[in-house]
Amino acid sequence: PPDSEELGRATWTFLHTTAAYYPERPTPSQRANMLTLLRSLPVLYPCTHCADDFGEDVKLNAPNVSGRAGLSRWLCERHNEVNKKLGKEQFDCAKTDERWKDGPAD
Ligand code: FAD
Repeated sequence: PPDSEELGRATWTFLHTTAAYYPERPTPSQRANMLTLLRSLPVLYPCTHCADDFGEDVKLNAPNVSGRAGLSRWLCERHNEVNKKLGKEQFDCAKTDERWKDGPAD
């Protein structure tokens, strides 16, 4: 099986970066494609117990694909659910853009 730590870091990087650059006002097609992408993870993510738990969480917390701010926050909260489960620190969701888009202010 794949290295779940390496796979996780790569996947979060892809997801948070894609959310950070998602449009403020996505077209219906962009929204539909983002929903498809997110709903594919519980089906296809190659760590089965991770995918199952993520699917349960997404059932309880519907994806917010309305725009970049809402999507970035939704994803931050989902990642924090995984962090909690793994005993990792909670990430401050106010810092999502700094981490995934803008870089630290100097
Ligand atoms: P990661 O958690 O991979 O985070 C990478 C970087 O993202 C961090 O260094 C930090 O800068 C930033 N970050 C952290 N939290 C947030 C946040 N809330 N919002 C924005 N940015 C943040 N592993 C398991 O062992 N069991 C599981 O059930 C499991 N489920 C997963 C489900 C999904 C959908 C994904 C994508 C991964 C899952 N993983 C799971 C992997 C796990 O989440 C980590 O990726 C892995 O343990 C490596 O952790 P890390 O400490 O290097 O940082």
